[in-house]
Amino acid sequence: MATRCSSGATTITALRRVLVCLAASTVLSVTVPAEQTAPRTLAAVFAHPDDEGAASPILARYAREGVKVHLLIVTDGAAGGQQTTIPRGPELAKARAEEARCSADALGAQPPILLGFPDGQLGSYADEPTRLFRVTQRLHEELQRIRPDALLTWGPDGGTGHPDHRLVSALVTQLVRTGAPGVPERLFYVSLPAELMRAANPGRGEPPLLIPQARHLTVRIPFTAADLEAGRRSLACHKTQFPANALTGLAEAAKQAWNGAVAVMPASGSGAGSDLFR
Ligand SMILES: [Zn+2]
Repeated sequence: MATRCSSGATTITALRRVLVCLAASTVLSVTVPAEQTAPRTLAAVFAHPDDEGAASPILARYAREGVKVHLLIVTDGAAGGQQTTIPRGPELAKARAEEARCSADALGAQPPILLGFPDGQLGSYADEPTRLFRVTQRLHEELQRIRPDALLTWGPDGGTGHPDHRLVSALVTQLVRTGAPGVPERLFYVSLPAELMRAANPGRGEPPLLIPQARHLTVRIPFTAADLEAGRRSLACHKTQFPANALTGLAEAAKQAWNGAVAVMPASGSGAGSDLFR
């Protein structure tokens, strides 16, 4: 219940009320936990513009709560031309950069950081170490610049199994495991629920041995209806990827699958010990 701080009948009573109110406000100001007032930064690192759809409601939620949310997109998206008449190449890359900006804006995130590596080719980067080192270094430079407190990326499965997704996951994990300067330890893997995979590919369904078991997704992050709606609007920005008639079905499938919370997997456990089997 709120304390009444209006003026009273006598000067002494009024003075006493002022002192009580001052004391109350002092207590309130010192009991706000520091972590609620400190600015925080979240980096979501993905391979393509539209990958952020896998985490969109929680990106919207944290942005709404004042967290500085950054989207880092490693490729230029120039090869994602299945659903558009725009020819693959620079013109499509330009359109997808615009879509990424629209999506980040819908989520309340910072303007996206687009690293511009060639779409569809990251999987073959392992063949050529110098290319691999270059993309690792670029990613690290950006993370050092924005200094996130937590990271989100695809799991080792790449969510959909896409080689570009898998490489981005491996590089982010590598930077965390090596303690790269500016890179936090708090890394979480996102994945796509089976229901969403089925909705996205009704003919194929979900590929086998790809979706993590629910028991590994131990961090469940709730979101509001408004966050879900922001996620839907961000998905709608990706016009070259999702035809308008597919959006409603996808958004509904995502709503059902998440059921009010996006579950993610912590990249590192806190367990210790001296035996692999105990
Ligand atoms: Zn992708």
